[in-house]
Order: sequence, then C-alpha cells, then structure tokens
Amino acid sequence: MRSTDSTRIYFDRAAEELDLSDNMRKLLLTAKREVQVQIPVELDSGELTTFIGYRVQHNDARGPLKGGLRYHHEVDLDEVRALASLMTWKTAVVNIPYGGAKGGIALDPAARSRHELERITRRFVDAIHDLFGPDVDIPAPDMGTSSETMAWIMNQYGKYHGFSPACVTGKPVEYHGIAGREEATGRGVGILTTKLLSRLGKKLPGTRVAIQGFGNVGTHTAKFLHDAECRIVAVSDATAGFHRAEGIDVLAALRHAGANRGRLEGFTGGDAISNAELLAMDVDVLIPAALGGVLNASNAASVRAPVIIEAANAPVEPEADAIFESKGIISLPDILANSGGVTASWFEWVQNRQHYQWGLNRVRQELDKILGDAFEQVWQLSQSRNLPLRTAAYMVGVGRVARATVLGGLA
Ligand code: NAD
Repeated sequence: MRSTDSTRIYFDRAAEELDLSDNMRKLLLTAKREVQVQIPVELDSGELTTFIGYRVQHNDARGPLKGGLRYHHEVDLDEVRALASLMTWKTAVVNIPYGGAKGGIALDPAARSRHELERITRRFVDAIHDLFGPDVDIPAPDMGTSSETMAWIMNQYGKYHGFSPACVTGKPVEYHGIAGREEATGRGVGILTTKLLSRLGKKLPGTRVAIQGFGNVGTHTAKFLHDAECRIVAVSDATAGFHRAEGIDVLAALRHAGANRGRLEGFTGGDAISNAELLAMDVDVLIPAALGGVLNASNAASVRAPVIIEAANAPVEPEADAIFESKGIISLPDILANSGGVTASWFEWVQNRQHYQWGLNRVRQELDKILGDAFEQVWQLSQSRNLPLRTAAYMVGVGRVARATVLGGLA
C-alpha cells in the first residue's frame, strides 16, 4: 500500500469521528507546497552524480512548518508526503506551535563518504534555502541524518541569510544545539511506554521488550527502558539481530555499535535472529524503531506482543492495524509515541531565538510534562469514546488543526 493511502485511512477514521466537512478534509489532506530538486554532486571518485531531494510542506495553520530530513535509498515523494502529514498531526497532538513538513534525499548514506554527504547536504540547502528558515520551515534529523548533518545545514543557510541557528534543530550541543535533544525521541518513547503500561496495570521491572532499529531512537529507547528495569530481550538493525532471554546487556550493545559505525553486526551478547523473528517474538512490548511499513498484512497475524509502541514513523500498515485491533493488541501510535523529538526541537528553537540555554534537567522536566499531558488527553478520549489510541490521537491532532484553520480564516 502507498504511504499516503495508509495515512489517509487513519485520517479518515478521525475525520469521521470529528464530523469534518468534505471541504475541510480536502484542505487538510492537501499539502501547502511540494518541492523536488536536483542535487548534482561530484563524488570522491570524481564522477558526477545527480541525487533527487524533496521537501513537502504539508500544513502551517498552527505555526511554522516543522519536520525531519531523511536520507534513505527508498525515499520518494509519496513517502515524504505521508511523513509530512504525520508531522502536522504530531505537533498538534503535543500542542506545540508548529505545522508539519518532511524532507528527504534518495540515497544510501552507508554507501557515501562523510565528505560526499556534506557536499550533498550543502547542495540541497543551495537548492531550497529560500523555502525554509526560522519562521517558515525548520528541518531536523530523521533516518540517515544526524546532528552533524544539521550543523552543515545551519552553516550553509547562514551563507545566504546570515547567522540563523533557529533555521534547523537537532544540531550538535557545541554548535547551537541543546542538551537533551539527541536523546529526546527515544526518551519520549520510554516515558510514554511507562505511562501506557501503568494505565494498563502492568509493572515495568522485568517487562520483556524487543526493539527493531538501533539508531538514534532505538538506542535511547533501549537505554531508558533498561534503566527503568525492563528486560531488553531482543535488538536488531539493518545489519544483524540478537536475542537473549535473560536480557541483552544494553550498555555492551551500545559500546559495540559505537565502535562499529553504529552497526550491531558482530555483537556477541546474544543469539542471532532475523528481523522477521524479532517482530514475531513472545515479548510484552514490541518497539519498531526503524523503517515504516514493517508490520503489514503479511506478518501481522504472527505478532505475539500484546503492546506495540510505534517509535518509527508509520511502522504499522492499516491491514495490520485491523488485525491487531481484532486481537486486542494495543498500539501506541507514532504521532504520539515518537513526539518527544519534535517537542525537544521546539525547546531548541525557542532557546536559539532567545540566545539562551536551559540545562538538561529543565529540558527533561518540560519534555516529561508535555508528553504526559498529551498522553493523558489521548488516553481519556480513547476511554470515553471507546476508540483505539490511534483514532483518539488523530482526533486530538486533526481537530486542533481544523480549529486553527477556521480561526485563522481563509480570506
Ligand atoms: P537512524 O538512522 O539513527 O537509525 C535507523 C536504524 O534503523 C538503524 O539502526 C538502522 O540500521 C535500522 N534499520 C534500517 N533499515 C532497517 C531494516 N530494514 N531492518 C531493521 N533495521 C533497520 O534513524 P532514527 O533517527 O533512529 O529513526 C528511526 C525511526 O524513528 C524512523 O522511522 C524515523 O522517522 C523515526 N523518528 C525519528 C526521530 C528522531 O528524532 N531521530 C523523531 C521521530 C521519529
């Protein structure tokens, strides 16, 4: 199923519950602007190659556009379009004053040298620098990009527009970033997992967790839940997967990946498993934290975890969602589960604009409060209307954007 068809199905269900008019639905489903640019770059070999970059600016009814930049070989306009709309609902669910956008470049970052990635990023900024900025659209890291990528973006943007640290978030702490942003998505996943388990009457210590993806989000999620005394029994990434019933030594896995260009390949602290085996594992909590669409019609029936936390964007396709609902499997939807990243990005943007820095404790406290409030609102709505958490989260997000659209007026 195309990515936009999946997100449309989730949107429609909430729009139905909210009783939105057809005209409002059309407006909310249409992107404000979509851009595709060519990025001609000379590779280290001297060969000239042209990459394709995208930025989809979905909706800015509630504030400047906000969303990550993904480097992955499967990036295409349909995927970026769907991810941009998720950002609109996500910023609205946590009630921060942003709209939604997403960008991407179709490339395999592992196959490119650091210098090539820097040149590609700077050429991309050359192509779109008039379309983003602190009050317009603020990119951030996503799959395949890092704080270093964000530093290149800020630096290149500054060549056109002057010193503008708030033009991008997720920057290195030593280069106008903030303490607590890098960990924020995974930490948020951990916080929301504990809140959901507590609402379900389950205890954290000993809870068996499987995590797919061991990048920014997966590693910080693993660390947070490990510190909370959960048992991380399985981890995987694009290169390998491991299982250990007594619990993986998360710190050893982090050290291994840290010394191995972020890869789990070659880790010796567990039995080798495939990604398919990880998703079907007998655990208490399953956390997809890598690609979209990994839980779909072909494998949903084999999922045994009673709780799924959608740390990745769009990891559950609608056919799988229907199977989970019929089996009583509870899914915490992406637009809430991974909202810690954009929330901390908002803190970074606020501090950049004030030329002021909060300490890590304040960042964590504010993050806990915003995520806690958003979770409670979604949980209460799902309970009072007897709806899945996904529909409740979409209702909160879509409802806020629809209201802002009416209040702002169209004339
Ligand atoms: P990352 O590039 O840091 O890590 C991605 C991880 O996924 C890596 O460990 C990689 O090996 C693994 N992976 C890639 N392909 C895989 C495959 N086929 N099977 C198993 N593992 C695979 O990316 P990230 O920033 O951690 O993002 C992960 C997910 O979280 C994405 O869906 C992203 O959109 C979402 N997300 C990220 C942020 C953020 O702040 N970084 C915020 C919100 C949502």
